[in-house]
Amino acid sequence: GFSEISLKDIDDLVKSSFPLCMRHLFEKLREDHHLKHGGRMQLGLFLKGVGLKLDDAIAFWKAEFSQKVGAERFDKEYAYSIRHNYGREGKRTDYSPYSCQKIISSTPGAGDHHGCPYRHFSEENLRAALNKMGVDGRAVENVMDKVQNRHYQLACTLTFEAVHNSSCDSGINHPNQYFSDSQKILQ
Ligand code: SF4
Repeated sequence: GFSEISLKDIDDLVKSSFPLCMRHLFEKLREDHHLKHGGRMQLGLFLKGVGLKLDDAIAFWKAEFSQKVGAERFDKEYAYSIRHNYGREGKRTDYSPYSCQKIISSTPGAGDHHGCPYRHFSEENLRAALNKMGVDGRAVENVMDKVQNRHYQLACTLTFEAVHNSSCDSGINHPNQYFSDSQKILQ
């Protein structure tokens, strides 16, 4: 039974239950107070999928972006696309969060932070990110082994298992599935 998250819990949820792709976007957003379009879409739809309501989503993005571009420019240039993602503008399509397959096959350019870290990070950056998540020793080598064989979702599954000290028999195929499986274990 999990359908809504509250803005005040978000930092804890990032640490406990976000997959590395979303954790990375979240940290970059906090650091730079900005994300390019691909990152806003990947993280924004994920947050919608985990149950962040539209008003909270606007507040969340505004708190960061207004530090960089000002509140007025945020309202003018960015709020629309958030409402759009929630199906409140344009054709009113209710956009779905991206699957692993879609994220893995994306092609982030310079200054982009979207994509799948197992696919798109350098080995050095991936090792550092895994250590930061609390994955170390043998578990890191097992993850890197999957990455070298281009089994990115298996690498993510092994990370999930190491972080939660629990098996994930279905494997990871969607960032929102990673989140909900994590919450099931932790709750
Ligand atoms: Fe995100 Fe999926 Fe990559 Fe894991 S395998 S980091 S959930 S895109």
